[in-house]
Amino acid sequence: MRVLISGAGIAGPSLAWWLQRYGFACTVVERSPTLRTEGQNVDIRGAAREVVRRMGLDDEVAARSTGEQGTRFIDGAGHSVAEFPVTHSDTEGATAEREILRGQLASLLYEQTRGAADYRFGHRIAEVRDGEREVTVSFDQGGSESFDLVVLAEGVNSRSRDSIVNTAITERSLGLTIAYYSVERSAADDDWWRWYNALGGRTISLRPDNLGRIRVSLSFLSDARVDSDPDLGSPKDELTERFRDAGGPAGRVLAGLADADDLYVERLRQIRADRWSNGRTVLLGDAAWCATPVSGMGTSLAVVGAYVLAGELAAHVHHQDGLAAYERVMRPYVDQAQDLPPGTPRLAHPRSRPGLAAFRTALRLAGSPAFAPVRRRMFAPPADRLQLPDFRHLETTRSS
Ligand SMILES: Cc1cc2nc3c(=O)[nH]c(=O)nc-3n(C[C@H](O)[C@H](O)[C@H](O)COP(=O)(O)OP(=O)(O)OC[C@H]3O[C@@H](n4cnc5c(N)ncnc54)[C@H](O)[C@@H]3O)c2cc1C
Repeated sequence: MRVLISGAGIAGPSLAWWLQRYGFACTVVERSPTLRTEGQNVDIRGAAREVVRRMGLDDEVAARSTGEQGTRFIDGAGHSVAEFPVTHSDTEGATAEREILRGQLASLLYEQTRGAADYRFGHRIAEVRDGEREVTVSFDQGGSESFDLVVLAEGVNSRSRDSIVNTAITERSLGLTIAYYSVERSAADDDWWRWYNALGGRTISLRPDNLGRIRVSLSFLSDARVDSDPDLGSPKDELTERFRDAGGPAGRVLAGLADADDLYVERLRQIRADRWSNGRTVLLGDAAWCATPVSGMGTSLAVVGAYVLAGELAAHVHHQDGLAAYERVMRPYVDQAQDLPPGTPRLAHPRSRPGLAAFRTALRLAGSPAFAPVRRRMFAPPADRLQLPDFRHLETTRSS
């Protein structure tokens, strides 16, 4: 089978890894001229951790860990309100045991697959013509080729999704915007994720990485498009205006924002698609089901989805049966990941002084030993609520 994958993020290269294992020929097109290595900490949890073990990459991921020791909520003076050390569970904890920078995971997956898959950077699909026996794809850069299957793993902002897969897409905004960038590490920084709440539904968070920098995120309750309103000036100006009076670490992180060359601003929204495939085209990863970073599940879903899609294609003679099985296995898992706890993200972004006091009281309670069972539920995304299908018997038969 010849498979074209569009998108070399996390889902695309993960899929290429498994497809090559089953003897499929893979071409990966990525619209960016080089591999995109931006992004901050992502978690590999539950079933995804097991998939990474089956890939033999758990030690490689551990070696690239950000080294985060846990999550600490701080007040304006930097004192701890409550703290939650990293757990040694596959699933629980705000800080997962396998925390890795998105760019380092993308690079690892790319390095693992570049020998066997045909990667084409600066390439984008222009048109897809679905036929009975194969699908013909033309590219923006010219030329056309035929494949047996096209997989769109283009992330939340996929443009081809609607036109090619022809499925009804619903976007659900979470009413939260997050700006990500990094600043220089200082002697006062430690290896904890520090989370600071400011009034007005704003947070500042600082996380260690393994590259000697501190990853900052500024989040605020709003549906405003920070990057597209010319009246508001540049995103940096608007973020500075919004956080100027936030207190706590605001002075430091806004000083660092002025020099940041890695600013990335995202309005959080979930993607729900009526169906994930149509004929010989199929959606994978955030393009199919973005759950947003607050779910703690985006990367885990991409890794698991790639494993299931490749395995089901290998397990079935007809691609349409494999695609149906992929959706049957993944749909309930994705639904649980998208079903965020009630009050998300508003409860963690209190606007008023009483709201902030109540949030901090809840954190203190949750941090106390007596509340260990509640704590486990609070920070345990449903990453392990999937019985992973076992495709190991196919690896030997298909690749021999
Ligand atoms: C630059 C960047 C930074 C991110 N930072 C974070 C973060 O800090 N925290 C977090 O939780 N999640 C982050 N994410 C999202 C996270 O990677 C995903 O939620 C998750 O890993 C699922 O990955 P994915 O492969 O489905 O999508 P993505 O990782 O978004 O990858 C999609 C890929 O498809 C490419 N692409 C898009 N359109 C086309 C097209 N038409 N043709 C060809 N290629 C195309 C994109 O350039 C990208 O390389 C980030 C994503 C990106 C792209």
